[in-house]
Amino acid sequence: SNTVHVVGGGLAGSEAAWQIAQAGVRVVLHEMRPARMTEAHRTEGLAELVCSNSFRSDDAANNAVGLLHAEMRKLGSLVMRAADANQVPAGGALAVDRDGFSAAVTKALTDHPLIELQRGELDGLPPADWGQVVIATGPLTSAPLASAIQALTGEDSLAFFDAIAPIVHRDSIDMSVAWFQSRYDKVGPGGNGADYINCPMTREQYDGFVAALIEGCKVDFKDWETNTPYFDGCLPIEVMAERGAETLRFGPMKPVGLTNPKDPTVKPYAIVQLRQDNKLGTLYNLVGFQTKLKHGEQSRIFRSIPGLESAEFARLGGLHRNTFLNSPKLLDQQLRLRAEPRLRFAGQMTGCEGYVESASIGLIAGLYAAADARQTALAPPPATTALGALLGHITGGHIETIDAGPRSFQPMNVNFGLFPPLATPPTHGADGKKLRGPDKTVAKKQAMSARALADLDGWIAENLPAAAAAA
Ligand code: FAD
Repeated sequence: SNTVHVVGGGLAGSEAAWQIAQAGVRVVLHEMRPARMTEAHRTEGLAELVCSNSFRSDDAANNAVGLLHAEMRKLGSLVMRAADANQVPAGGALAVDRDGFSAAVTKALTDHPLIELQRGELDGLPPADWGQVVIATGPLTSAPLASAIQALTGEDSLAFFDAIAPIVHRDSIDMSVAWFQSRYDKVGPGGNGADYINCPMTREQYDGFVAALIEGCKVDFKDWETNTPYFDGCLPIEVMAERGAETLRFGPMKPVGLTNPKDPTVKPYAIVQLRQDNKLGTLYNLVGFQTKLKHGEQSRIFRSIPGLESAEFARLGGLHRNTFLNSPKLLDQQLRLRAEPRLRFAGQMTGCEGYVESASIGLIAGLYAAADARQTALAPPPATTALGALLGHITGGHIETIDAGPRSFQPMNVNFGLFPPLATPPTHGADGKKLRGPDKTVAKKQAMSARALADLDGWIAENLPAAAAAA
């Protein structure tokens, strides 16, 4: 049939349903609330914001999530329209009245002549006669559906927890202190024996670091998170530190198999390793540093690591209940399950993080689903756009194996580290002066934003003439 079923009326599912219907294709939207609630949702409204009421920075010129807002507005996003109409003052951020926002999304969807809202839980795989389906059931996907997806994709392909180590921008690491080397110079697939960035510590530095981890302020687990066991190899770094002064030195911070070329005679007491996180090589993660420390504490404590004094974090660490797929392995470029292409995924389940990111992946999944239903082709959004960069993280930009073998795919907010570098980075400011330090970073971000918006306009004009006409 030519109807698309969308499962989950959250941020992603609501946006997907809207985009599909706006393209002239019929939609049945399935939402389990209020009959069945999640641990975090409180209402029956569509696109309920479960925690903060902020869509973060609205600064399209300087901030990657602000840029994503701008791109979504160009694409006729319902989530952005409802957010703009329900804005509350929040400085440079876009914050919303959560009830007004959810009510506006719910009304637009239920008023749409091509959308039918059905309340009820999908408690297994979608029936075959549904045809094309977009699954957007979010980080708190109900258990029967999660189990059915896991049975289909395989044990290791659906995670129920994220274990996030902080990620830093490569160009903010002080390479006069740190050096490139793989442990025992081991050359792995895709590697050259110098794949890691190493930061050395003296005994005093290590002891101080361990003490700071133990004393640092942690985020409390929510009630429903506490009975979830830690995975092997995913212990928060501060829990490892609590187990004994030497635990980290025999774990992720072990100094063996590495020689500091800046001073080969001195053996570091401990070493922090950073591993390349994206194909572009612009982002590096701190290996084994998943943590429940509060964000402010993470920046403070991790900047005490030699070489990371000026580290700029693309993402800080965390550990949450989170249902998400190993997307780079399981999904094709258009977010369809390779093993069963009638099933397309959207939202946080695909490995993005955040309200805006989830809605944006719902948006593109909706455009793809509508194109499939109408048997037309849709070219992928340019990799230089925020949408394209985020999709790249989900479907392929990620490094699966480097040097030391497989590593897990973890969710991510949109950030400039995911964008391809500029062909000609800005060197001089408008005043003709040579750019340095923070000014250079700002100019780079602004040039990336301008490139993104221009490239998106081109893509829209070529692929979505109706949206181009409406804008
Ligand atoms: P959701 O918005 O959760 O939508 C999924 C929908 O699917 C829900 O309405 C759910 O009821 C429904 N559903 C689930 N299972 C079924 C089923 N079997 N059948 C039918 N319907 C089903 N992001 C931020 O940007 N800021 C924050 O402050 C923030 N706080 C968060 C706090 C918590 C506790 C969690 C879990 C996440 C938080 N996030 C936050 C991250 C995330 O961006 C949001 O969860 C976002 O809502 C994800 O969008 P989504 O559409 O993928 O999922």
